Amino acid sequence: MLRNIAKVSLVGAGPGDPDLLTIKAQRLLREAHLVLHDDLVPPLILAVASAHSEVVNVGKRCGAKGVTQAEIHERMIQAAHRGLRVVRLHGGDPAIFGRLGEEIEALQAASVPFEVVPGITAGSAAAAALGVSLTDRRKSSRVIIVSGHRATKSTPHAATSWKEMARDDATLVVYMPGNNFAPLREELLAAGLSPEIPAAIVSRATTSGEQHGTGTLGTIHLLPHLDSPAVLLIGRSLDRSGQEEGGGASLALEEAELILSGL
Ligand code: SAH
Repeated sequence: MLRNIAKVSLVGAGPGDPDLLTIKAQRLLREAHLVLHDDLVPPLILAVASAHSEVVNVGKRCGAKGVTQAEIHERMIQAAHRGLRVVRLHGGDPAIFGRLGEEIEALQAASVPFEVVPGITAGSAAAAALGVSLTDRRKSSRVIIVSGHRATKSTPHAATSWKEMARDDATLVVYMPGNNFAPLREELLAAGLSPEIPAAIVSRATTSGEQHGTGTLGTIHLLPHLDSPAVLLIGRSLDRSGQEEGGGASLALEEAELILSGL
């Protein structure tokens, strides 16, 4: 008997806090027969799926099994052909460093209908954790979202041209930043950015393990090594000195004054 091909939902799970799931993501998770999720999606969010649904970790770090991207496509397509409701659950927003483009192409090539359900991306979550805006009409007119991970191990950030991103009016949000910020610092300073520009690293934003460290571009190489996942933010919109008592001309955070706080 021929069944209808079911629609595949490519869903953003947000940064980790289940309260930040969209209502649509919640509904789709409850109704799904098959959930294929990234490593970063925490158990509290997976628990939203029905007890009857099959929940599979297809993340890159899911042990020796190592599910390839082609296998993820195959599973989605086969399940959809069997009429099963599939949720492909990405951490954060599926459209940011999530291989969404490849998944859409594979589904289209197999004539499987799909929908994309956005989620809150890590950069937005990190800004919220810091209590700052990513844009600010007085300081920052653009946001640059970039991955620090295109690099090889021996030459961190080799593939990323930080120079092009050195703009005084931009907030730079570096996903997968690694731990060595020295090359990035050097390039941004060499390109003319001020060492006074505020910077922050935010780890596990919106989860109970959230931590952050703040400093300036001049001190990013001294930022604490926080657990992954973490994002690095650099930009004048992070400057909260105007909002704080005694704030103003001087950025309160000088070389030695890196603040590490668990929220
Ligand atoms: N699609 C995701 C990003 C996937 S790439 C999104 O939109 O957020 C994975 C990277 O995202 C991590 O290495 C880290 O840089 C960032 N990230 C994801 N969740 C995070 C969190 N809760 N806190 C800080 N960074 C996070």
